[in-house]
Amino acid sequence: MNMKERLLKALKGEEVDKVPVLSVTQTAIVELMDQTGAAWPEAHSDAQKMADLAVASYEACGLEGVRAPYCLTVLAEAMGCEINMGTKNRQPSVTGHPYPKGVDNLAMPDDLLGTGRIPAVMEAMKIMREKVGDEVPIIAGMEGPVTLASDLASVKKFMKWSIKKPEDFQTILDFACDACIAYANALLEAGADVVSVPDPVASPDLMAPDTFDKTLKPVLQKFADGVNGPMILHVCGDVSPILEMMADCHFESISIEEKVKDLAGAKAKVGDKVTICGNVSSPFVLLAGDEAAVKEAATKALEDGIDVLAPGCGIAPDTPVSNLKAMVQARDDYYA
Ligand SMILES: [Zn+2]
Repeated sequence: MNMKERLLKALKGEEVDKVPVLSVTQTAIVELMDQTGAAWPEAHSDAQKMADLAVASYEACGLEGVRAPYCLTVLAEAMGCEINMGTKNRQPSVTGHPYPKGVDNLAMPDDLLGTGRIPAVMEAMKIMREKVGDEVPIIAGMEGPVTLASDLASVKKFMKWSIKKPEDFQTILDFACDACIAYANALLEAGADVVSVPDPVASPDLMAPDTFDKTLKPVLQKFADGVNGPMILHVCGDVSPILEMMADCHFESISIEEKVKDLAGAKAKVGDKVTICGNVSSPFVLLAGDEAAVKEAATKALEDGIDVLAPGCGIAPDTPVSNLKAMVQARDDYYA
């Protein structure tokens, strides 16, 4: 069983010889930027650097997959958001929104897939495939429709519409969803095996679970139903109140943080509907902990039945290679 077969089976909940270990969330780290010469912010726009940095995590850390890009702003930018490209250890962020005033003038770019950094991301998928061959999975990351909609409107207006203008709220979500479907299918066509979709604005920290159930879940379902390949849904924070709803969004798998305290309980609750990726703490263990702490958290996740061993959320850029290696080693030790 090669790495790609193992991941695709594990995401579907089929039997594997060992749980895959990789990152389904942001993967780039400064130590590898220095080693490869492929650094942020250039690696967000330059296809070759984007690919080189992604492949480095596979080669240097032993992660069993390559993942790019490194932000949640590629589609937002193509749709008209202004972006601050960040620094070597700070991710790009959305600084300007095209539709804060309302949904009357929503306009899809004529050539969405040829706009902004999208062509570079597609090119990076092809370069990564050439570099790692057919047996290593390629994971494309992209923002989900809820986060994209909030970027288009601004988070403030998006929250306001969710309560006071439900029709506008629905309209901008549907608009974002259409773009997400087109982009995700293009990523798969360009060579990605899996599309991993962080949708942080869907978190119970920001949106009421009732809103998730009634409005966001149907949008996420429509997104998943429109995409021709396996997808992973990541929502930040303690998603315990929406776990069953997330499991119902028609994604192959969900990715959760360590903030969901009871992983074994989560598996028992939704394990018959969806597989789970996670949940080694990115800030507290991978960034701030030592190798022993990483091994302890990884082993606990394996004991609790994690389907894909991975960081709980995006890896902090200052995380050491040695801690990512320790996560891989913990998986190997578990099966030794
Ligand atoms: Zn997260």
